[in-house]
Amino acid sequence: MTTICKNCASSFEGKFCNQCGQAADTPEINFRSVAQELQHTILQIDKGLLYTTRELLLRPGKTIRGYLEGKRVQHIKPFAYIFILSTLYALLTTLTRKSTFLADFLDGFYDGTTESEAQSDMGLVGDIVLWMSSHYAYTTLLIIPLISLASYLCFAKMRYNYFQHLVLNSYVAGQRTAVFLLLLPFTYFITDESTNDFIDTVKVYLGIALTFWTYYQFFNTTRVYKRILLTILTYVVMLVLIFLITLIIALVQKVF
Ligand SMILES: [Zn+2]
Repeated sequence: MTTICKNCASSFEGKFCNQCGQAADTPEINFRSVAQELQHTILQIDKGLLYTTRELLLRPGKTIRGYLEGKRVQHIKPFAYIFILSTLYALLTTLTRKSTFLADFLDGFYDGTTESEAQSDMGLVGDIVLWMSSHYAYTTLLIIPLISLASYLCFAKMRYNYFQHLVLNSYVAGQRTAVFLLLLPFTYFITDESTNDFIDTVKVYLGIALTFWTYYQFFNTTRVYKRILLTILTYVVMLVLIFLITLIIALVQKVF
């Protein structure tokens, strides 16, 4: 049966217009259709979120390579993924008042001073570190373009463009956040401060280990020692980039 598309007026067969993607069936919009649409949207996000998370925990590098090569329909898109997970994580950690490792570290460093005093003592670098540690969601989202530039420069021979590195690192950040979210129920009941500090330290290393694992699988066509060296180099370049940006901000602040 041929249908005339209600959106672009081209004729097609099947459930969707092959010019613009509009559905053949366009029921009247009413309470039922809106409720159905809402349910469908939430279900679709849920399905993609769970599928992508499972794949990233089982075979991260292979999954991301597959996504870049076009195996995409079951996945939640990379930026939506990290945006939803980091927001969720930030909300839950704020609600359960789990402070982050860096904030604790700085608290310990400046014993007896309030946060605002500590900030002015440490200057701009301290301000930035404090801000980053207390804003997990923003920090995660801000670091992605930087680590992507670093991995793009270090793995230049692998011939992925910058935006493909952006996808890779968004999924890596999402994978890490998913693992942290899964750990939250277990750490929630721990009130002992030193145990919590230990867990936070473990989380930092866990995040790095997950990145190594994913990069190792993702760049599977290059030699093992090269993959490991270039991943280390990626971290070094990223730290240099963060340092340079901090320096530029400091200079700009001095000039104005
Ligand atoms: Zn159409």
